[in-house]
Amino acid sequence: MIQNDRRALDARDAGAELHRLVAALYPYCRSTTGNGVRATLRHLQELIPLALHEVPSGTRVLDWTVPREWNIKDAYVKDDQGRRVIDFQQSNLHVAGYSMPVSTVMPLAELRRHLITLPDRPDWVPFRTLHAKDDWAFCLSHRALLALEDGQYEVCIDATLEPGALTYGEYFLPGASSDEVLVSTHVCHPSLCNDNLSGIAVATHVARALAGLSRRRYSYRFLFVPATIGSIAWLAANEPNLGRIKHGLVVACVGDAGRPTYKRTRRGNADVDRAVLHVLKNSGRDHEIVDFVPYGYDERQYCSPGFDLPVGCLSRTPNGRFPEYHTSADNLEFVRPECLAESYSTCLAVFDVLENNRVYLNQNPKGEPHLGSRGLYRGYPHTDADDLALLWVLNLSDGRHRLLDIAERSGTSFASIKRAADRLLATGLLVEAGA
Ligand code: ZN
Repeated sequence: MIQNDRRALDARDAGAELHRLVAALYPYCRSTTGNGVRATLRHLQELIPLALHEVPSGTRVLDWTVPREWNIKDAYVKDDQGRRVIDFQQSNLHVAGYSMPVSTVMPLAELRRHLITLPDRPDWVPFRTLHAKDDWAFCLSHRALLALEDGQYEVCIDATLEPGALTYGEYFLPGASSDEVLVSTHVCHPSLCNDNLSGIAVATHVARALAGLSRRRYSYRFLFVPATIGSIAWLAANEPNLGRIKHGLVVACVGDAGRPTYKRTRRGNADVDRAVLHVLKNSGRDHEIVDFVPYGYDERQYCSPGFDLPVGCLSRTPNGRFPEYHTSADNLEFVRPECLAESYSTCLAVFDVLENNRVYLNQNPKGEPHLGSRGLYRGYPHTDADDLALLWVLNLSDGRHRLLDIAERSGTSFASIKRAADRLLATGLLVEAGA
């Protein structure tokens, strides 16, 4: 089991460790481009040897163009007493991403056109990114807006928007086969915990756990990319090698208290779909499976029809379906250690299934082999789940069924089927097909 490896998080403090990483990354002002993403990825380099890639602004990537790079040092709105009534130093959410630099004085009536609030959530600060060119905006709580009095305000956004690069991180972990498992998470949101830091933390520690395995069947490729344009840039640069990707998961919004949700690949019944369904079903916990829709995170790009990669999306409450989504309420309290830990162990369990989903051959297929004489079977009236698993593995190990097929058909957990296969292998009753 991957969980037992030396670099895997101990089950007792996995949640605390994952939450610590979320908290450490919380202050960085990430955006689609810029130094906040670089600082985040460099922080992750302390845990995994991420390679940082820079794609210059203006590069054509599929049907898109890499934008100018946005960086911000400071921003504020000061009242006529010189007090910062909106202050980037208090929260990076206060400035809309990709705001143009500005330094001016204006009356409240004019300033209001650049202020974004959530009237129905008056204490929360919204998160926004501007897509219109040459605009700027501050985000603040509606209550703070109502407290602003008429008068002149000094407005400053000390930012740059100029040719630079888009940065993404990639960690390739070789396995016995060049066939790959892709894990992708987005890194373009500022101080928001569930919507992006939870995925970053879980993907990083899953990578560490897999790196610690003495043997991997698959190679693993972890991508930490700005949403949409980042995965598109990666796909554009790696198109000749996409055939190696046999399974994939986008990991996002995996720290809230909602039940686990899995969105199927576009194919609908890929091995990764079956593996995740099996793990969630056998967890005994509430969960939800949804069909692919061309909306959400970067699975939209991986599953675009020209690629149609087998990449699903693991989350808890999906994006846009929790009120805290894209607001200051998606904070360190909103993501829970135990939920992060559950998402982490779900990912590892899924990869455990994919790693061990092999085909075996029963070496004594004519009649049941005598298990009792081999010390394998207690039999009636003691027949238990492990005994039944032995019988299922022997019966279906005809060269046409993999272990996940056997687990599904028998209604037994993959772990139990795997254990049975290992016991049978040890007696020579089973051999791996093609081995
Ligand atoms: Zn988002």
